[in-house]
Amino acid sequence: MSTLFDLHSHSTASDGLLSPAHVATRAGERGVSHWALTDHDTLAGLDVARAAAEAAGVRFIHGVEISIVWEDVPIHIVGLGFDVTHPGLRAGLDGLRGGRLARARRMSDAFAAIGIPDVLEGALNYTETPEQISRAHFARYLVELGLFKDKGEVFEHYLTPGKPGYVQHRWASLDEAVGWIRAADGVAVVAHPGRYRMSGGQTQRFFAEFKDLGGAAIEVSCGSHTPDHVRHFAQQARRFGFYASQGSDFHGIETGRPDLGAFASLPEDLKPVWRLLGY
Ligand SMILES: [Zn+2]
Ligand SMILES: [Zn+2]
Repeated sequence: MSTLFDLHSHSTASDGLLSPAHVATRAGERGVSHWALTDHDTLAGLDVARAAAEAAGVRFIHGVEISIVWEDVPIHIVGLGFDVTHPGLRAGLDGLRGGRLARARRMSDAFAAIGIPDVLEGALNYTETPEQISRAHFARYLVELGLFKDKGEVFEHYLTPGKPGYVQHRWASLDEAVGWIRAADGVAVVAHPGRYRMSGGQTQRFFAEFKDLGGAAIEVSCGSHTPDHVRHFAQQARRFGFYASQGSDFHGIETGRPDLGAFASLPEDLKPVWRLLGY
């Protein structure tokens, strides 16, 4: 039987469009043999996903994608193969999600102060998980109200630093995210490194710091990487001694983004991250 690892995907437990069970079924249909669900800052979908994956004959790997900020750059760190019951990991993620809702309440108060009431209530209609509330949900609601022509206009005038609806959020740091994952016996992976706005030198410093903290792998092949990205980050993996990961970053069918299992295969000489996961 051929193997296909897809180690990055999302469900309705965060910003994906399909339920965890539905993503599991689709992974099986798409020929994925080993699959990780990596919702943003939450473990909520994992139990259902595991059961559905087993029913579909797919090996399941626990996953999560943690949002951090490093030197003012928003970055995503994927955790794989950890103990889902680990109290430190769970408490860390709970803190991130609780922080989002508290921030949303303060944003809503700021809009009320300039004469637009109940924005949080309106924005919550666009997500099934209040703890995942974001600026994008606020923008959708304000456009729906007819106050703005599009989401870009809302962001420009209200939701960016210095504007009336903007509230600073305390994001996790790199050492927190890597620390939580490692404490729970998981493997820390830099998600889609080709997507960050960093200079070459900054990326080198970031990789060096990630490695010093115990980070083990980077995504070399993923849904948002071009062939040039794959070549470049394969080279970075060799240079830093990182294991290589791969995944679609699936969010749903017809989202204009890649389907499960749809990404380039890894260069043969790289050490695949699943060696660290017992495969
Ligand atoms: Zn991401
Ligand atoms: Zn993702």
